Amino acid sequence: MTPNLAMQLTPIGIIHTPYKEKFAIPRQPGLVKEAVGEIHLHADFADPNAFRGIEEFSHLWLLFQFHQTVHRGWSPLVRPPRLGGNAKLGVFATRSTHRPNGIGLSVVENLGLAQKQGKTFLKVRGMDLMNGTPILDIKPYLPYADAIPGASGGFANQAPEPDMQVQYAAEVIPNLLQAEQRQPGITDLIKQVLAQDPRPAYKKKQQDIQEFGMHLGEFNIRWQVKSGQSLVTQIIATNS
Ligand code: SAM
Repeated sequence: MTPNLAMQLTPIGIIHTPYKEKFAIPRQPGLVKEAVGEIHLHADFADPNAFRGIEEFSHLWLLFQFHQTVHRGWSPLVRPPRLGGNAKLGVFATRSTHRPNGIGLSVVENLGLAQKQGKTFLKVRGMDLMNGTPILDIKPYLPYADAIPGASGGFANQAPEPDMQVQYAAEVIPNLLQAEQRQPGITDLIKQVLAQDPRPAYKKKQQDIQEFGMHLGEFNIRWQVKSGQSLVTQIIATNS
């Protein structure tokens, strides 16, 4: 009989990221390098002593809860979007969100500790986490142990090619310039997110002109996909 070792986990903080909804979040860290996040620590874990020495590590592992999907439970078989959404693989052979305990694992660039309004937070770059994700733990990335040259990556052996061309429609350029003042780097962020082609697999098979929208950072963005190209058609500032 399996002993009952049920644990209660206490998040150490939550991460603020530009990804305000699940749609269009990159599938792994490092694919959208322009995305910067802030891990805001809960009071019990905001002790600077707990971070002493962290500045010596260029990269960190984040363990987190897939808080938007954890209530759906897990399935032994899942359909990795990378395989077109039809082929099924065992959950433990994938990085699917639908897993027992709903725990995610991402390596991110360490931009260091900072302070805002007297509160300590840790700045990171390149994450694939939704805004508001509870962070369970932070560990340094150890190149000698964590990078394995020649390792086999199964169906995800290669990084996905950012193969979507992205352009801004002439009429959004004034909005884009204003957006860049409000959120520096947003021009590249939008481009890098859309270059990953976040459309669901079934949409990629269709040839018609398609319209999409996402809430990214402080903006609602709309774009059209036509003949393998994305054209950003609207950038509207939001209040968040
Ligand atoms: N790198 C992590 C891992 O391997 O455990 C996450 C990989 S998972 C395939 C990445 C996807 O998780 C993102 O594209 C997004 O759709 C989803 N995601 C990110 N944050 C989430 C959250 N807090 N709750 C549920 N899903 C989330």
